[in-house]
Amino acid sequence: MTRRSVTEHYPDTQPELPPRSRGVIALFEENCTVCMLCARECPDWCIYIDSHKETAPPTAPGGRERSRNVLDRFAIDFSLCMYCGICIEVCPFDALFWSPEFEYAETDIHELTHERDRLRAWMWTVPEPPALDPAAEEPKEIAAARKTADKLAAAERAAAEQPAAGQPVRPEPSEPAVRPERPGRPEREGDA
Ligand code: SF4
Ligand code: SF4
Repeated sequence: MTRRSVTEHYPDTQPELPPRSRGVIALFEENCTVCMLCARECPDWCIYIDSHKETAPPTAPGGRERSRNVLDRFAIDFSLCMYCGICIEVCPFDALFWSPEFEYAETDIHELTHERDRLRAWMWTVPEPPALDPAAEEPKEIAAARKTADKLAAAERAAAEQPAAGQPVRPEPSEPAVRPERPGRPEREGDA
């Protein structure tokens, strides 16, 4: 409001967009567990996910087989997307991010459905998250990791301070006994 409007001469000059611009949705597919939450919560139903199950043999004898979802398809139809950001907010595994990239216009609306490879490639345009406020509460994951590291370090220190097996233990010097006060001579008449 306090600055004059300036017409950007795009595409001759690239606009300087704020880092949190909602340009496009990028997928970090390594984090995606195919939980389907984003597709279910999307108000436009424009996220398409296909997957299949794979079973892994038990890791220990007598254990159970483990099954996991493997992603086959992840696509977003940007001709329907209204850039509300709900999918990014609800993803429990940090697999979706906003990227300020905006140069993906197409002449055919059908080509605005972008598949996982394109969504994955946009991850490289996602800006670094801003640094934490120095006065902010420590993130739970870091606090838990730090507590575990502190416990391990304390256990190692305690083990190092234990005397080696077979070595005599020198007794701690004891406190000197406090001698009891001698009772005073009773005062007699004539003592001044
Ligand atoms: S931004 Fe909103 S409309 Fe677009 S894919 Fe995500 S949830 Fe759906
Ligand atoms: S919510 Fe996240 S983890 Fe779940 S399917 Fe969507 S992108 Fe993958």
